[in-house]
Amino acid sequence: MNILVAGGAGYVGSHMVKQLVRSGHYVVVLDNLSTGYRELARYGRLVVGDLGDIALLDSLFQENSFDAVMHFAANSLVGESVTHPSMYYRNNVVNTLNLLDKMVSCNVRYFIFSSTAATFGEPEYTPIDESHPQKPINPYGASKLVIEQVLRDYAVAYGLNSVSLRYFNACGADPEGELGECHDPETHLIPLILQAASGRRENITVFGRDYPTEDGTCVRDYIHVEDLCEAHALALKSLTKNQALGARAYNLGNGNGFSVQQVIDAAQSIVAKDGKKISVVEGDRRVGDPAVLVADSSLAKNILDWQPSYTDLVSIIEHAWKWEQRF
Ligand code: UDP
Repeated sequence: MNILVAGGAGYVGSHMVKQLVRSGHYVVVLDNLSTGYRELARYGRLVVGDLGDIALLDSLFQENSFDAVMHFAANSLVGESVTHPSMYYRNNVVNTLNLLDKMVSCNVRYFIFSSTAATFGEPEYTPIDESHPQKPINPYGASKLVIEQVLRDYAVAYGLNSVSLRYFNACGADPEGELGECHDPETHLIPLILQAASGRRENITVFGRDYPTEDGTCVRDYIHVEDLCEAHALALKSLTKNQALGARAYNLGNGNGFSVQQVIDAAQSIVAKDGKKISVVEGDRRVGDPAVLVADSSLAKNILDWQPSYTDLVSIIEHAWKWEQRF
């Protein structure tokens, strides 16, 4: 297939492009390189540009006859979304609408959307399935939820078929060591821990030890980026198999919650093999962090036939550690 990957020079997008190209698809990457990196766009044809540039979208869709679009281009920092909501609604909502309207006018009918657990807000129960109420508590989650609704409406009105995939905690890296996470600033637990191990930062701060969990630290559902990409590939297959799928949404996690302390312990034993040690300091809770966020991914397993391969922390951290050692 001929596939446009918006945000294909970013963390999850770059892994997806590699997988698609390896599977024989032709991929055009559209990325403004605001949070992505040219070096991560090693596969596919990179077009540097922004979804806010309508003329660019016009020419891109005119020159290429796309069969499907995967959309990873978004701002995704919760804290930043609270201080810069305009940026989040403009990029995550308005720019996505530009892309969707272009697809509709060019009759491109398959769309895969990176959504998030943040659309659910404070969990009312756990694990979180697709029936859980969606009440986001920050502009990031709200911006993604708007597009989920847009996709339902576009399916009815314009026949645009889509799958929204709600990631829980994306992590890990390309097992071959070519791709990985490099956010700036980095805010995610696993890369921060590994930076503390490699010496790129002094320590890792545990954000709160007074949560109602077994060891008092927050529990999250860490899902390997390769497993996320596999779900996208299966979602694409589901779209092509059923020409009138409408708008579907699935939660993606590995179903196992791990606490911050468990992640630190697992990382410690992996980096110890290289003679490294992680220094841990205690901090206050981070505003807006629920105690437990774990996905119920039964629907994706049953409908898409998705099965995460990396259900423990070892490979996730080993792959991320391999990547961290490049810096
Ligand atoms: N966390 C932490 N120290 C850090 C960064 C994160 O203790 O320096 C905790 C955070 O409170 C959360 C978990 O690690 O419980 C995962 O946070 P991350 O930012 O990686 O992902 P989120 O769950 O916010 O999407």
